[in-house]
Amino acid sequence: MTGTLYIVSAASGAGKTSLLRGLMARDDQVVISVSHTTRTPRPSEVDGRDYHFVDETAFLHLITSGAFLEHAHVFDRRYGTTYAAVEADLAAGRDVLVEIDWQGARQIRAQLEDTVSVFILPPSRAALEQRLRARAQDSDAVIHDRMQAAVSEMSHCGEYDYLVWNDDFETALADLEAIVRARRLRRARQMQQHAPVLSDLTG
Ligand code: 5GP
Repeated sequence: MTGTLYIVSAASGAGKTSLLRGLMARDDQVVISVSHTTRTPRPSEVDGRDYHFVDETAFLHLITSGAFLEHAHVFDRRYGTTYAAVEADLAAGRDVLVEIDWQGARQIRAQLEDTVSVFILPPSRAALEQRLRARAQDSDAVIHDRMQAAVSEMSHCGEYDYLVWNDDFETALADLEAIVRARRLRRARQMQQHAPVLSDLTG
């Protein structure tokens, strides 16, 4: 049996990471893949848990050896999802969430047919700006640049299968759960998972 690959994108400040962690905490068949990046770790981040933190040379080596399912430049840093980060869980029937930007989403859609993509949106531009300001004591210029980057990322939301609004956290989490649940109820997956009982029922 194979699980489903969920591509999840959002503008930073939309609450994507908390939502995906919330989903994983409630559903033990869901895992989040760990990407590689050349950016430096933030104080709370752990190598191998949040990202595999690698230097430029190691990243380029992974590209040339064909290790990446997708990779992209985001904020002048490299980010990528290796096949190894998703394959074993998918093969074991678990659903895998990849938290990536719109460029990576396009690359995966071009290669794999059976993926589901979700874009998480903030309730409004003002709310997003407020969240970005609340996060850190950044200057107006930095906030302005982050907003520009957010708007540019959000301009691709029309390429995704589902849009989830993160106004109220619990509602957004329930929406994500509904997407995952509906996907699991699709005929193809049910027939794979419940082949013996279906054959018994349909005689
Ligand atoms: P951050 O550095 O804040 O963790 O992530 C910055 C951006 O990089 C986010 O928009 C995130 O979706 C994107 N990103 C993180 N990992 C990957 C990845 O493996 N591939 C791609 N294409 N984007 C990623």
